[in-house]
Amino acid sequence: MSAPENRASGDRPIVVASNRLPFAIGRNGDGLHVHSAAGGLVSAMDPVLSKRGGTWIGWPGIELRRGETLPVPDRPYAIAPVNVSNEEIDHYYHGFSNETLWPLLHSMSGRSRFDRRDFEVYSEVNQRFATTIEEQSAGAGLVWIHDYHLMLAARHVRGALADDVSLAFFLHVPFPPFDIFRLLPWDRELLSSLLACDLIGFHVRGYARNFLDCVERTLGARVDHEAGLVEYGDRTTRVRAMPIGIEFETFDGLARATDRQPEAGRERIVLGVDRLDYTKGIPERMRAFERLLELQPEYREKVVLLQIAVPSRTDVVEYRELKSEIDELVGAINGRFTTSAWSPIRYINRGVDRERLAALYRDADVALVTPLRDGMNLVAKEWVACQVDDPGVLILSRLAGAAETMREALLVNPYDLDGTAGAIHRALSMSEEERASRIAALRRRENRDDLDGWTSTFVEAAAEARKALPSMGDRDFEGWLSDFIKDYRLALFLDYDGTLTPLTDHPDRAQLSPAMREVLSACAARPDADVAIVSGRSLDGVRAMVGDPSLTYAGNHGLEIEGPGIPHFVHEDLVHYRGRAEELADELDAIASDGAWTERKGPTLTFHYRSVPESQRASLTREARAIVVRAGYQPRDAHCAVEARPPIGWDKGRAVLHILRSRYGPAWSESVRVIYAGDDQTDEDAFRFLSGLATTFRIGHPDSATAATRRLPSVDAVRSLLGWLARRREGASG
Ligand code: UDP
Repeated sequence: MSAPENRASGDRPIVVASNRLPFAIGRNGDGLHVHSAAGGLVSAMDPVLSKRGGTWIGWPGIELRRGETLPVPDRPYAIAPVNVSNEEIDHYYHGFSNETLWPLLHSMSGRSRFDRRDFEVYSEVNQRFATTIEEQSAGAGLVWIHDYHLMLAARHVRGALADDVSLAFFLHVPFPPFDIFRLLPWDRELLSSLLACDLIGFHVRGYARNFLDCVERTLGARVDHEAGLVEYGDRTTRVRAMPIGIEFETFDGLARATDRQPEAGRERIVLGVDRLDYTKGIPERMRAFERLLELQPEYREKVVLLQIAVPSRTDVVEYRELKSEIDELVGAINGRFTTSAWSPIRYINRGVDRERLAALYRDADVALVTPLRDGMNLVAKEWVACQVDDPGVLILSRLAGAAETMREALLVNPYDLDGTAGAIHRALSMSEEERASRIAALRRRENRDDLDGWTSTFVEAAAEARKALPSMGDRDFEGWLSDFIKDYRLALFLDYDGTLTPLTDHPDRAQLSPAMREVLSACAARPDADVAIVSGRSLDGVRAMVGDPSLTYAGNHGLEIEGPGIPHFVHEDLVHYRGRAEELADELDAIASDGAWTERKGPTLTFHYRSVPESQRASLTREARAIVVRAGYQPRDAHCAVEARPPIGWDKGRAVLHILRSRYGPAWSESVRVIYAGDDQTDEDAFRFLSGLATTFRIGHPDSATAATRRLPSVDAVRSLLGWLARRREGASG
């Protein structure tokens, strides 16, 4: 792919990755054959790829045998196949994609199968897609990953992309609420992978809201719900609802081009068109139609339900069972109502081509689109585009994404058979004026928001998201911390290094910035808040760094505590260790070379090796840890340092509880809310200990797991949290 360096990212080639390529390959006696694959995604991506150039990456639909090369149809862009073996397809595609994610994302979690092997293969195949994306991305302006088959690809891609390349993902199915998505044992992996993108698109606002809720509650990411922004680690992701459209003019044209069928007009037609999938609610729809015939016999011999069910995923048991269920139901309903001149259900169990489909759409009096759950539903939109003469009526499930915008349809709950039967009756008896008004509004919208518009909106939004994101601001704090603190006194506990100051190469250089000092003092000055600094430094050391006598200080990971209203505290077991830390420090000094040194902090010490060359660090720290253990102390890894503490079952979490009880009494939780922020392993002790008792923030890049409730990406974000806490409306004082 050639890429002139000076082109704006908006004109540069695009890399598209989707499960399937824009054509399918089949094998017969003569070898491999190419079939065209029509469908929404191909119609959307083909024009933009043809215009800007680039690559389409996907699985060709067949396992290539040794020596076989893929026949690639001539296209104005490159094709990069990803080979996936038949066995991998079982786990990655049939298994994890279609038997775990598909039902879960459609909120039908009872049908989801959770199988670790499926997930592992899904990860491997996603990694392979990511590698191909990397290979194809030189010179590209945008990498656009599609749909639930590839939710883990982004994570592997981001690091390999140049800085000015946008990485974006669109989910073509629904995204479920937190309580459903959390059933997935690998929820964190999927969510954090997606957050490697600059832009994540969903069909409707409801799905975007669910996703934001999940990343906030599962990962502890910072979320601005109003602006649709997520801050996670060093990256900000924009999350947007962008409902996909259809090729309106094409369907409109097809509907005008085909003549009416001679038999049309004899019976009134209620039309259903779906893939044969349990999300589509086909049995429920047939029962609703049966209900109509029961309740209103005048429709017998006058109305027909014409159901087209395109076979789908026929190698999955549940789909075969669904087919049998529908076959039986059609038999039972037809058996019950059929007369010599009429049968109520006309059932076609195969796909039809676009021309025929457009004619069927046009000639139907009613479109009955009643999925139990559907990301969008294109049939509803295509049907609208085909209402070119006598306008029909659209009955649409309120559980389809399309219902969010297609307001003029008759919206129904597909589980409510009486309600749906009532809607069919209303549709069949609706006046021409009402039908025409509803259809006109629906057509106007679908014509305006068509497929081309969707593609360009997405591509522009992706470029924009990479270039400039508005800052997160304070809105997220306002949103959930206001309620948490409201009417309570606030006890704020803050680690020092890595939380209030960036980490430096020597502890003496980690000075508070004037801005941080200002917000810290402003918090402490509030009558309804108390601030404590909880540090691994010595008590005197950390007090000297902060310098504000009105705060509480806990030094040596809480072994020593001092502050207003708290009697000076030194852990009683330290008497058994008097002098031993000094001896240990001497021993460590003896092995210190090449810039390693020991920080003596009274009862504890820290052996620093930040200046030691990388090649010597492993052996040096091994030796240091062994010395610490031999001395009867506990070694603990810190940032380029080994900490040594006496093993007396005390940590930052216990120190916080000690401060709370000393200062506010044993019933402290009745009047005080606790916030704790810290950045390293010693703070994890506090996060675990305080779970359920406090809101805790882990600061820094989210590579390691955390027990904290939330994450904040940087010291700057801590400053903005403290700024908000200092400015917020007053809570309880005294
Ligand atoms: N479709 C088709 N032939 C048929 C029936 C349906 O090509 O016989 C197409 C239809 O035009 C629509 C798609 O299948 O574009 C179905 O899309 P929808 O969003 O309704 O459901 P999905 O199958 O994506 O879940």
